Amino acid sequence: MNIHNIPTKYKYLLLIFLSYFSSGYVYSEIVDQSYISIIIDDLGYKPKEDMLALSLPGPIAYAILPHSPHALKISTIASKNKKEILLHQPMQALKNNNHLGPGALTLNMTKQEFSKTLEVNINSLPNIIGINNHMGSLLTRHPGHMKWLMDIISKHKYIYVDSLTSPYSVAGKIAKQNDVPFTSRDIFLDNKKDMDYINNKIFELVNIAKKQGTALAICHSHSNTIKALSNFLKNIDEYDVKIIGIKSLIKKRENNSVSMNSALVFP
Ligand SMILES: [Zn+2]
Repeated sequence: MNIHNIPTKYKYLLLIFLSYFSSGYVYSEIVDQSYISIIIDDLGYKPKEDMLALSLPGPIAYAILPHSPHALKISTIASKNKKEILLHQPMQALKNNNHLGPGALTLNMTKQEFSKTLEVNINSLPNIIGINNHMGSLLTRHPGHMKWLMDIISKHKYIYVDSLTSPYSVAGKIAKQNDVPFTSRDIFLDNKKDMDYINNKIFELVNIAKKQGTALAICHSHSNTIKALSNFLKNIDEYDVKIIGIKSLIKKRENNSVSMNSALVFP
């Protein structure tokens, strides 16, 4: 049976039927279209690479490190090109904290120091739609500090994307408690910089999207990453996936979990 040949109204009935008798996995198998979002992290220090990253087509999102030498230039170009921009907020990690850079949030800060540092970072970057964490494998485990973070994000009506640098992150739970639109990364594309590795990760990304309906990747402006992404985006039709912005991805994920839940409790 090819699911794509079934008229929409029957597909909907089939969806309710399958959802009632089965797990969410079957639900995801009959999603019509798969969606992918991509965030490019750590922008602001390498103008040549960052400019190439900015030239990628479609609704790619750009996460800029605060107070970096090229932050303003990058955010100006990105917003002119109608791209989504995130503040890539440095947060204390378990190790390598010498890579945090300026404007970092750390565990030893008072609430006042924490909030002031974050507000200064926010004010330094125009046109952001939200925040994702740079590093943060230690700070994102702490509910108290995540609550201070979500209070400010909620005040500005921003979104939060968990880069998921720790499996023990509580960011999602605290975001939910504070009604902050939230999502988290599924895959890093370029933990290694060689082309084969990155291309394999892009395939993995496509597979996650086909399985779940949506997938979110984080990567960097390394030249091989941009080459691989540029190639992928050029041939996107062959993969039968669509690139969407982060805000749209969050909406789709919210809608999916609502329809899944309502289908599952259907009498
Ligand atoms: Zn980062």
